[in-house]
Order: sequence, then C-alpha cells, then structure tokens
Amino acid sequence: MPRPAATRPDGATARPRSAAIVNLGCKVNQSEMEAAARLLREACVPLVDPDRAADLYLVNTCTVTSIADEKSRAAVRRARRANPDAEIVVTGCSVQVGAEMFAAMDPAARLVTNEAKAGLLRELEALVRLGAPEGRPHGPLDAALPTLSGVEAAGAAGIDGIADDRASVERTRAFVKVQDGCSFYCTYCIIPRARGAERSLEPDVVLADVRRALAAGHREIVLTGINIGTYDGGWSERGARGSHVRSALTLAGLVRRILEATSVERIRLSSIEPQHVDDELLEAWVAGAPRTLPHLHLPLQSGDDGVLRRMGRRYAAGDYARTVERARAAIPGVAVHADVIAGFPTEDDTAFARTMAFVREQRLAGLHVFRYSARPGTPATRMAGQVDERTKKARAGELLAVGADARAAWARAGLRTVTRVLVESRLADGRWVGHAEDHVLVAVTPRPGDPAELENAILTVRRAAIDGESADRVTGEVLAVDPAPRSLRVPLPVLAGSPAPIGGAHVG
Ligand code: SF4
Repeated sequence: MPRPAATRPDGATARPRSAAIVNLGCKVNQSEMEAAARLLREACVPLVDPDRAADLYLVNTCTVTSIADEKSRAAVRRARRANPDAEIVVTGCSVQVGAEMFAAMDPAARLVTNEAKAGLLRELEALVRLGAPEGRPHGPLDAALPTLSGVEAAGAAGIDGIADDRASVERTRAFVKVQDGCSFYCTYCIIPRARGAERSLEPDVVLADVRRALAAGHREIVLTGINIGTYDGGWSERGARGSHVRSALTLAGLVRRILEATSVERIRLSSIEPQHVDDELLEAWVAGAPRTLPHLHLPLQSGDDGVLRRMGRRYAAGDYARTVERARAAIPGVAVHADVIAGFPTEDDTAFARTMAFVREQRLAGLHVFRYSARPGTPATRMAGQVDERTKKARAGELLAVGADARAAWARAGLRTVTRVLVESRLADGRWVGHAEDHVLVAVTPRPGDPAELENAILTVRRAAIDGESADRVTGEVLAVDPAPRSLRVPLPVLAGSPAPIGGAHVG
C-alpha cells in the first residue's frame, strides 16, 4: 500500500498519481479491494486499468486452487511489465501460503500477509487524511476515472469449468467486509491456514465503510466475510473472547445497527453457515424488511451425513433442511441458494445419490457446484477413497443440471409477481438487467419517456415471462422507475474471480 508521505523511504512524492487494483478469488477479497477503491477515490487517486502504467498496484491474490495461485503470480508479473518502477503491493491467500515464490519472482514487490491486510486500509486512510492534492478538491471524480474495460476473470472457482467462471463487476452492489478468517477447519479447506482465525471488524469500522459505499452511490450492500455467522462485534479482534462474549454484538445486532444508523436501501448477506441462521438473525431480517432482501446463501456441500462428517461440517443434512424450513416460515418467498462439492474423498455412488436427492428436495433457487480440488496440507488430501477426475466431472455435470432446473423452476414460479429490480447493466440488445430481491435476474425494456440511463435505478417491475435467451432470467414489464440518486463513481477492482470457491463456501 502506498506509504504516507512522511514514511516513504525514497522521499518521493507521497501520493501515487494513479493506482490499479487486481483482485482474484472470493467475495471477501472483492470487498477488501472495493473498500480500497473507495478510499483511493476519497484520496483523489485515479484508478486505471491494470494493464496501463500506474504508480501503485494492489494485487489481492487467491490460493483456492493451483490455477488461482498461477493467476495470482501472473497478475504480479503483468503489473511489473506495465510499470517496472511501480510500487506493487501483493497480499491475499496465495502470498500467505507461498510468500517465497512471490519474493523470488519480484523481489521489489511488497508482500503483505492477510493478518497485516487491515493495516493496508489504514495506510490508505492516512492518504485520505493527507487531503486532496493541490487543485483537486475532494469529491466526485467521475471524469477522472476510467471505465473498467478489459476486465479479466480469474476464474478461481471456475477452474474446473463448473461454476460461473466470471463474477460480474459489481457497479451497483457494494460488498462490505464485516469479518475475516475461520476457525472451523473443514477438512478440505485451506482458508483457515490462509486467512487465520476468525475475527470481526468493529461495528464502527463496518458502519464507516457502509456510509462510504452509500456516499459513492451504491444502493445495495452485501455484508461479506469468510464465516460471517461468527461475527462478534470485534471481541475476537481484541482478543477478548470468553466470558465477555455473551455481551458481544452478533451479526443480527450488526444488521439492526446498520439499518438504524444508515439509509441503506437494500441489504443482503453473503453466504452464511446454516447453523448460524438462528432465531435472532431471522427476527432481525424480518424486522428489517423490505430493506433486508429475501435471499439466503447457505453452503450445503453434501447431502450425505457420512461425507458431511468427514468434511468436518458442523451439521447433518436434516439440520440443513430444518434451517431451510425455518427460514421459509419466517421470511416469505425467501430464495435459498446452496454450494455443493462433487467428488469429495469417500463420496461413493450411494452418497452421491443421497446428495442429488437432497438437493432436489430443497427446492433451491440456485446451486453453485464445485469439483473437489485437493489443497496441499489439508486432511482430506490424505483420506482413503479419493474420487477420480472423470467421476468428479460426471457428478458435477449431474449436479449442474439439477441446479439449472431448480433455477428455472424458481424463475417460473415468480412470474406475474411484482418485484423491485436494482438495475446493474445494459445487455447487447439494449435491454437493462438487474437482480430482483430474490436474486432472480430480470431484463427490461424501458418505456417511452423512461430515463435513458437506468444503471443504479430501482425499477418496480412485473415479471412477465421466461427470457427466451436464458431459462433462469425473466423479462419484466416496467411499472415505475426510482432513478439512481447519483451516478456510481467508484470504479471497481478487476480480475474479479468467481464467488464461493471450494472451501470458501461462505464467501459467495
Ligand atoms: S469451508 Fe468455510 S467453515 Fe469450513 S474451514 Fe473453510 S472457510 Fe471455514
């Protein structure tokens, strides 16, 4: 991260004249780099495309698979090529587990561990405090900021070609990190090693980032973390766990506080472990409606209890089903999305058949499918009963088909209902598209007289039909337009990877 002026060793101008952000991997990484982008904007530092020369590059890496590692290293090499004299700050999980590799490859790069990552944002805040450069007031930088063409996907989770291999660049929703790390140690997961023990951000820190996102024009906030259900208001960060923990702020309390203290219009959670969906959270969600959206992402991973046990998951399939039932009873029309892993060691045909049946029974609105990918050092790599690649592929294919059917069925069931859609982008055919409250994609043709620019508008829409071009997208008839209060001014990090990689099921 840029060192504030007083501390730069070269004595050069403290403020980078331009910066570029490259992000790989999960939504937590994305939330971190979005926060960095917001701070850079406040510091009046223009963001440029990473293929262009910049004074400063931030590369947030991912190690969820070996391909993610390779893409992380490639991003650093590319930054160095774009500007051999740049300050390149490399952080994230790939650095955490393989710092030597990065140090050998680019000795001038500054490597920052995940534990030290919070310090990066503090350094950026110091830049903000330095004030705007002479002649450049704080404020909207629309004209100074480039559009992020040339966005390239890391495909970290899509490496197997199973999941979506490209996350959309979020220009309307803001991912706000509330928690980091995990202490659960599921047997397939590298994340506890890469990100460390669970720890929560102080509520004031979260609120500041929410306010920053709202000021930049975001209308929807996604609270993001590696294992957000362990949110404790910052007790864990301060090392004060134990007897005090009962008085700590829970995730439900944080949601209530954000709703009370800010004008955020829409709020979602990134994925949350099913056992953390407790009555308090459901009550907060119900009380917060309609600002709290009817959508939950609950990682499942397997529908077979033996596999779940060997994965080190902390629930059985029946517990998961009961959580879904309770959520449906509390939140009318809630859309439940899940992650599932195909080909975990010991998953035999019977176990896989149980998973297939279970997934069908849950009437999910979305399913993210991942092939098991062995990560060195995790217990699952040493288990007997490893599944061969062909079988993994075949099982993943079956799960994908079930997921596609489920999404299409959910989309059909919602036809003729009225919904509110946050418009995200324009399709090649001129229609506008965005997500409804239940995360269904809705494409609309504006009415005569509607504003020409609809990005970041919230439309009241009647869901009319399944879109001929995509079975899980619907077309909508516009009933009303709530125009964007202001244009969104924060260019977002590029190389955004897929949500919810294997072992990062909580980050989608
Ligand atoms: S899968 Fe999720 S809960 Fe399990 S160890 Fe990884 S991050 Fe933690």
